[in-house]
Amino acid sequence: MMQPERNPDPRNCDCDAHDATRAKLIPFDAALLKGLALAIPISETETLALATATGRVLARPVVARTPLPPFDNSAMDGYAVRIADFDGSPPWHLPVGARIAAGEPAVDDFAPGTAVRVLTGAQVPSGFDAVIMQEKVECRGTGITVLRRPASGENIRRAGEDLEPGGIILKAGRCLGTRAMAALAAVGDGMATVNRKIRVAIFSTGTELREPGEPLGPGQIWNSNRFMLMADLTEPWIELIDFGTVKDDARTLKATLAEAATVADIVVSTGGMSVGDEDHMPRVFQEIGGRIDVMRVAMKPGKPVMVGMLGETIYVGLPGNPVSAFVTWMLIGRKILEKKAGFVDTTNMTSKVMAGFDLSRRPGRCEFRPARVVGLDASGNRIVLLSEPSFSARIASLAAADGLALLPAEKARVSRGDLLEFLPLLN
Ligand code: AMP
Ligand code: MG
Repeated sequence: MMQPERNPDPRNCDCDAHDATRAKLIPFDAALLKGLALAIPISETETLALATATGRVLARPVVARTPLPPFDNSAMDGYAVRIADFDGSPPWHLPVGARIAAGEPAVDDFAPGTAVRVLTGAQVPSGFDAVIMQEKVECRGTGITVLRRPASGENIRRAGEDLEPGGIILKAGRCLGTRAMAALAAVGDGMATVNRKIRVAIFSTGTELREPGEPLGPGQIWNSNRFMLMADLTEPWIELIDFGTVKDDARTLKATLAEAATVADIVVSTGGMSVGDEDHMPRVFQEIGGRIDVMRVAMKPGKPVMVGMLGETIYVGLPGNPVSAFVTWMLIGRKILEKKAGFVDTTNMTSKVMAGFDLSRRPGRCEFRPARVVGLDASGNRIVLLSEPSFSARIASLAAADGLALLPAEKARVSRGDLLEFLPLLN
């Protein structure tokens, strides 16, 4: 069945048909590239004890000074042997000369034909070139019986096999998440040099906004964008400066934007970006000396997103509709922020999903549509259904979505079974 794709709500400011200015839209990819070009990564660094570096952005590559692992060690609980001792045919009987556990130094001089009891992680004595799993031997008094000739190197983790000295274990620009912290610790560094925290100032605009917990008067709504941004900006590499909520009053907006720009590397606001009487932000931004680099993007939702520079500070003006604010933030604003903070890889990990619907639409803007995974087809492809066509204000369907399905700008039809790019939403 075809989903109707007309926009039934003429008050939805994200609708092309009600756009007064009709100025040319710039393609989403071009907008993102222009925005990213403004983000010159932070160069100031700080050196932190490892335990406090979690989640920060690595300023320099981390190089292993010693081999990883540092010495030949046993991958199993078993017996270290020398293959040269396995002449002739089985069975072979070997006396056990010593026992070495993890953390104990290896002893090296053993008579020919001797096995050494080793536990996982134990240093393998020099000259021993295989470890036989304990399950594969028979213990006879103080010796073992072996029925199969071991292979060279069997169950030995060689010094440097993971990384040689001088090898780069982490590149600069890597966020010190779970695996990176493990890697950093494994090469023995007690300190990490990271970029200083990036300072992000946020404010919400809208006379209608009240804070959650406050009672609503007529015509008022609760401010959700502020909490969306605060949640997304709660990161160890960010210092968040919250300027709260500002009424649609040009003077106050101007003062807030100017002050925010003096304290932050990036200022992010929501609302007031469009062409209505109370949409003051583009004008206010320019009146205090802002230079607009990106405006009017061919995307849905989020056409009125704006990016520019106010002195050294990047300004990202997001539309007020909550889904538009979220999508433009995630796909443009956050990418600019990550690059400025020093992240090297800011690409989104998308996957393919299968359309579980037919749809026709007006081409021109690429669409990022909240979508839910509703099942799997016979080959294991995830099948998605989209949220309703007029979705830019629908927070409940955004909250329920599993991800954003991408409908490319030029695509006028999607048929059931088509593969679509899909950006999973984890938070
Ligand atoms: P604007 O972009 O300011 O014209 O706002 C577009 C729509 O989003 C209006 O319906 C606003 O009431 C709503 N809106 C703006 N800011 C917020 C916010 N912070 N939280 C929730 N809704 C908002
Ligand atoms: Mg507004």
